[in-house]
Order: sequence, then C-alpha cells, then structure tokens
Amino acid sequence: MPTYDADLHLHSKYSGGTSPRMVIRELARGARRKGLDLVGTGDILHPRWRRHVRRELERDEYGLLRDPRTGVRFVPTVEIEDRDRVHHLVILPSLDAAEDLYEELRPHSPDIEEEGRPRVDLSGAELVDLLKERECLVGPAHAFVPWTSVFKEYDSLSECYGDAVDRVDFVELGLSADSDYADRISELHRYTFLTCSDAHSPYPHRLGREFVRLELEEPSYDAIKAAIRRKPGGRVVLNVGLVPELGKYNRTACARCKRQFTLEEAERLNWRCPECGGRIKKGVRDRVLELADLDEPRHPKHRPPYLRIVPLSELIAKALGLSTVTAKKVNAVWNALVRRFGSEIDVLVEAPPEEVAEVDERVARLLRAFREGSVRIRPGGGGRYGEILVGEEEDGEEGGEEGPRTGGGRVVQRTLDELLRG
Ligand SMILES: [Zn+2]
Ligand SMILES: [Zn+2]
Repeated sequence: MPTYDADLHLHSKYSGGTSPRMVIRELARGARRKGLDLVGTGDILHPRWRRHVRRELERDEYGLLRDPRTGVRFVPTVEIEDRDRVHHLVILPSLDAAEDLYEELRPHSPDIEEEGRPRVDLSGAELVDLLKERECLVGPAHAFVPWTSVFKEYDSLSECYGDAVDRVDFVELGLSADSDYADRISELHRYTFLTCSDAHSPYPHRLGREFVRLELEEPSYDAIKAAIRRKPGGRVVLNVGLVPELGKYNRTACARCKRQFTLEEAERLNWRCPECGGRIKKGVRDRVLELADLDEPRHPKHRPPYLRIVPLSELIAKALGLSTVTAKKVNAVWNALVRRFGSEIDVLVEAPPEEVAEVDERVARLLRAFREGSVRIRPGGGGRYGEILVGEEEDGEEGGEEGPRTGGGRVVQRTLDELLRG
C-alpha cells in the first residue's frame, strides 16, 4: 500500500497569532518542500478561509482536495475550543460537511465569523455528539499542555467526553509529549495517537515538524478514517515528532520569565513565580507523571514506532552558530541537503555523514551527534521552546544537572528501516 506523510493540524492566517503567509499557495509550497503529501486545511469553519480553500483547491478523483500547482492533497480540518477552554481537533469528510457544521455551530459560537479556531458554548461530550452526526473524526488536541487541553481540565478522557468517549477517534499528543509519555496512561492505549505540527507559519521548522505516515489503499477520506480507526483500508505506520524536551511546555516553568521548577517547588510556591510574580504552568512531563498508572510505557500492539527528530533547520542554524533559524544561509544549506537526499527526514536519519560533510562539515558533525543520541537539549517550558545545545553552552539548569540528550537517553536514533521493522 502506498504511504502518505500527513500533517493534520495547522492554522490559517485567520487564527490568532499566525503568519499572514498561512494561505493555500504557501502551505502547498511549504508542504512540497518538506515532503508532506497530505495536510489539513485548518480553520475550515471560517467563512472567508473556506471560500479561499474552495477557490484555490480542486476536488480530486478520490474526493479529497488537491493543489493543482504542487499536487499536495488537503483534507478539511479545524480546531474548536469548547466551553471549558479545551481544544479538539476535527477532521471533516468534505467542504460541504464543513458548510453544514458551520451553520450548526453558528448559534453556539460568539466568534466563528472572525476566528479560525472558534469557541463554542458546548461541552466536549455535546461537541462529539454533534460531530459524529456529520461523520467527522475528532479527538483532543495537544492533550497535555497546561493552557487549553483536556488534561489541564480533567484527569481522564471520560470526565471530558462522558458516554461519547467511545466515539473519540484519536489523541493528538502535542509537541512536548511522545508515545512513551502517553502510553504510561492505560486509558489511552485504545486510541490512535496523532502527531501534528499545529503550525502557525509555513517555515520548514514549523510546518510538518510533526506528522504521521499513513498507509492508505487510496488517498480518500474513508481510507484516512480507516487508518485512524484501525479498520481495513488504511493504517498509521509511523509517528514522527520532536524530541519532547524541545516542546515549549515540556517542563514546569514560569509563563512570564520562563524559570523552571520541580512540581514540588511549584506546589510549595502556590504556582506563583518568586522571581517575577508570574504564573507557573505545569509542564507536560510532570502532568503525564501525575496521570501515569504505569511505571514504564506499555505500548499496545497497534502502536506504530515513534521517530524522534529535531527540526533540520534548527540543527543547521546551531551548527553554523546562527541565532535565526530563518536566516538565508540556513535556508541555503537546508535546500542543498534536501535537494540531494530527498526529504528532511531522509537527511535527518538516512543521509551518510560523509556526504553531508560535502555540503557542510559542521552540520555533518552535529547530525552525527544527533544520531548517536549525544546532542544535549535545554528543555522547553512556560511557553519557550527547548533548544539544541552545542559545545560548552550552559544548559541553564541550576545545580549543574545534565540536560537530557536526544531521545531522552532512551534510544539512539535508529534508521527508518530499523524502526519500521520494529
Ligand atoms: Zn490548540
Ligand atoms: Zn517568573
């Protein structure tokens, strides 16, 4: 069966805090560059975005949307905020279904006309009921983050979804978690995990920084559904995601000054930062440890392998000693590598270091360290992304505690073949 690399959660220029470049033409170009075959439209309930999508994309023979310039396929998606400020990711069968859902949610939403990520006055359970009537796929978005996720609000999925919990299709892990984190919670074993970028800009260190590899009988909505629901016709064969420590909510930290705390310290301080008075937000790692009922991750049989990566452009910027990931020089090396070896993932896990060295010696050295699992990471927290450290850079943790290494010291990066063979 052919495979499709899919990034199913991102936002258009109509969501708060996004780049004005989040339009179909740029998204399709960005996806092509990145090696993605299928992306979510994002924000499909927004009237102007929906019109833009209709105008820019054509319906292909399998009922999905296709960009005529690049051949990149799109499926309608949206993120919805419920009455408890919990975010849900929704994948829709068609633009007509999006039209109907928009009409249905309009009376429940104060901002559906302006905001790409609309708020509704419904509970998680009510929302799932309504979405299921429209044949949508739905699951909690970035499940463990401290601001707007199911586990900031509840201790279990059934508390959020009630009886509708059986009809939830997937759990989106978010950038700060991976399947080793989530599979320490046995309630989650029955769900397919999605890894998505939640991109707000089309740059290669954002769009497709996390994605799933789908095996689909044909590139249709029914096959995507089959893959996520684990029915004949499709399969999720690989999750690709950031090293969790790179996520911006991995550690418990002050939302204002970003100082990090242990869970015990934060509790003792009553979640107020002694440095600046800001609010301390619980990190994803600490939240998972609170919820975990297993000492070790136990992966169910259906769970695909998880490939942990760092964005190639961040690795290049670090190797070249540049602080801007979007610098021209970084872009030039990124292009040279991707042109030579295929996709970004091919460069990260497959390209022979001697050949990478022909493009740039410093990048080859750092890439080798990443694959050996010896690149140190300064963990993210409080809304600041984690960072790759090179050479003598301080890891910023007091007491000289060693920062984690790529793969959290668990796995030295294996090749894709090894991963997929299990
Ligand atoms: Zn969200
Ligand atoms: Zn602070």
